[in-house]
Amino acid sequence: MSVLPGDPFRACPHCGHRPAGRREARQLCADTTVTWLEPGPDGTLGEAHHCTACAPTGPVIDLACDTCGDGPLLCYAARSPSLSDLLAAARRWLCALGWQATGRCLTCPACRRAAPGPSTAR
Ligand SMILES: [Zn+2]
Ligand SMILES: [Zn+2]
Repeated sequence: MSVLPGDPFRACPHCGHRPAGRREARQLCADTTVTWLEPGPDGTLGEAHHCTACAPTGPVIDLACDTCGDGPLLCYAARSPSLSDLLAAARRWLCALGWQATGRCLTCPACRRAAPGPSTAR
């Protein structure tokens, strides 16, 4: 991605913030592993990664897997479409990645593989 040869620290992929030291680099690395789902200008959801400095400050919905608690954060700003549209789009996005959405219950691809059930037999 944006890693330059010889650059010891990965910069934030969103704002380009470059950590000043190893400690900050570790923190930034942890922060940028979080996946954010954000609606673009046309309402289409896109994936983004942020450091603490550029993380969205608006309302956020945690789309966590019911089993392991992992999952993206869905952020909706003022320009977002309606919340139900946004949630439907987020579910489509997750399902395209192999998530299973049953009612209000979300299961990530890793937990689907780990859990024996009728869904894995199909
Ligand atoms: Zn950033
Ligand atoms: Zn999971």
